[in-house]
Amino acid sequence: MKNLRLAGQAPGRDRSVIEVAGVRIGEGLVVMAGPCAVESEDQIIRSAVAVKEAGAAMLRGGAFKPRTSPYAFQGLGLKGLKLLDKARRETGLPIVTEVIDTRDVSWVGEYADILQIGARNMQNFSLLREAGKAGKPVLLKRGMHATFEEWLNCAEYILAEGNGQVILCERGIRTFETYTRNTLDLSMIPAVRAASHLPIIVDPSHGTGILGMVEPMSLAAVAAGVDGLEIEVHCDPSSALSDKDQQLDPASFGRLMDKLRRLRAFMDELEAAGAADAAAGDAETGAADATERAGAGAA
Ligand code: PEP
Ligand code: MN
Repeated sequence: MKNLRLAGQAPGRDRSVIEVAGVRIGEGLVVMAGPCAVESEDQIIRSAVAVKEAGAAMLRGGAFKPRTSPYAFQGLGLKGLKLLDKARRETGLPIVTEVIDTRDVSWVGEYADILQIGARNMQNFSLLREAGKAGKPVLLKRGMHATFEEWLNCAEYILAEGNGQVILCERGIRTFETYTRNTLDLSMIPAVRAASHLPIIVDPSHGTGILGMVEPMSLAAVAAGVDGLEIEVHCDPSSALSDKDQQLDPASFGRLMDKLRRLRAFMDELEAAGAADAAAGDAETGAADATERAGAGAA
């Protein structure tokens, strides 16, 4: 891919690991979980405690919600950020939260551990530049109409401002299929791993919009080599003010986390066995070559 001077992978270059308050994204599997939006103190604290207990490494939650209708719940703004800060102090979980306006980047960055740029803003170049100057890690979601190349070029905008802490997030794209909310493009996991050194995570909640699909698509993402997942979990999904049909309850999330841990351990075993097989294959080829050379020398 042309012009990916900073986001592109180069021969011999290690994959980037982004460290956020002790959490290393790009190593193992990092799960970020929490409600779609911060709604109240009780809701965010209960949700944060639940995801922490289940083993999530980070808390997600929107204080600024980009909604289809201007009359829908838009988020609590500053009050929501303060509640996230309280949830962080109570659980120790670092926070990922969305910023939607260039004017807000610096002060939202005072609350967020990771600034999220949502799908609808992926190509908001002023916002990307501002986030690049904020000195905070940035989670860049794929735009719903964006190609792989457009998405990586948006990461390049942030990197070009001197901010190397970029995490990519596949969250589904618009296709002719309307059964699912979006078409979750898991082929982006190996695509990113081949073309870029940046970590790649998947959001199966917005990616499908269907509760029963969150678990299978999360597991599929892990099988495809994802670095992390961003999953919507609400302490009481039926009362959620946004995205109520796709948010897991704490018990389902706990069961999913258990399966994720087991699958991840199995994938590590598989990778280790593959590496051992490859090494044994190399040794065998080496021995065969040596025998051949010795034979040629004797002839
Ligand atoms: C979100 O994660 O809260 C969100 C709005 O997601 P997206 O930008 O992917 O639609
Ligand atoms: Mn949502």
